Amino acid sequence: MGKTIRPSFILLSVLCLSLAVLVIVDALRLPDETVQANTFVMGTFAEAQLAGDEEDAQAVWDALRDAENQLLSRRRADSIVSQLNASLQAELPAQMEEWLLALQQVEEASDGAFSILLGRLSDLWNFDGQSDLPTLPDDAQIAAALAPLSQGGLTVEQGSARLSEGLSIDLGAAGKGIACDIAKQILTEREVTSGVVSVGGNLLLLGSRERTIAIRDPFGGVNDSFATLRLHDCFVSTSGNYEKYFDLDGVRYHHILDPKTGYPADAGLCSVTVVCNEGLLSDALSTACFVLGVEASLPLLERYEAEAVFVGLDGEVTLTEGLTDRFSQTSDLTPAASSQTPQQEAIP
Ligand code: AMP
Ligand code: MG
Repeated sequence: MGKTIRPSFILLSVLCLSLAVLVIVDALRLPDETVQANTFVMGTFAEAQLAGDEEDAQAVWDALRDAENQLLSRRRADSIVSQLNASLQAELPAQMEEWLLALQQVEEASDGAFSILLGRLSDLWNFDGQSDLPTLPDDAQIAAALAPLSQGGLTVEQGSARLSEGLSIDLGAAGKGIACDIAKQILTEREVTSGVVSVGGNLLLLGSRERTIAIRDPFGGVNDSFATLRLHDCFVSTSGNYEKYFDLDGVRYHHILDPKTGYPADAGLCSVTVVCNEGLLSDALSTACFVLGVEASLPLLERYEAEAVFVGLDGEVTLTEGLTDRFSQTSDLTPAASSQTPQQEAIP
């Protein structure tokens, strides 16, 4: 049996369920962005600052809620993802088919570091558990959760999808980025050309005027940042080992899992921030790069014309070339003693 984590660790983990990219949307506001709105959607806090009106913000929230309930949620029994997980097949609306194909492409391009088929493994670790505690699984449980991945997969073609026995889809690594794409689509349709939308810290920066966003200090508290980026007209996502985790016997177990080992990714990083021109990609790539580590991420980022800021467990900061003129470090990083991740061998 796996080891259950004591409530004190849960409390810590809940407290650390924070925004990855630190955004005080108000601070990013341009003078004509008079509408400010927020809501709770996709299990997280969302904020918007728009050069539009109240109805524009409401239209975005409505679209995000529809996407969550009808397509993406693992908790709503009638969503497409739940249908697929329960019956191993589903008819796909065109947009859902596009997203699944794009995410399969990221899986291939990342050599399997990113996978939307880790639902069983995520359930086992239970970082997203609504009422139960996270669990430290044993090796046999992890091997059992990984086994179906090597025996089957997800087939998407001509408006329908089939899933192999034993697999379960989890879009947790891309859903909030997809939400930012939906926000851009709705706002563009409504002729809103300037604004910021943040969904759980995944950002849409709409419009050609430059803004300064802050990147969270992975060793600090929820309101601490260590650097800024000057950006416009793009999407930004961060994956970090401080978002959902528990510390046990000096080891940090976090929610970004390496599909090769079944354990929390251990590529020497504590956060990766990705900037690119699609929300689905910024979100999926930040997760993939976290698993891959700096060197192995570079070809992946290049392929998608994306840029990144990596923070190592030792506090070392690495930037891709396109961000060097946009990045400013605003405070020193002090690595935490307990942030080492478990060392695991890949399960063959
Ligand atoms: P993010 O915070 O965007 O990096 O996404 C992490 C979430 O995605 C986790 O809570 C899991 O639900 C899921 N996940 C964990 N590891 C992976 C992975 N290697 N590939 C895809 N999804 C993952
Ligand atoms: Mg992600």
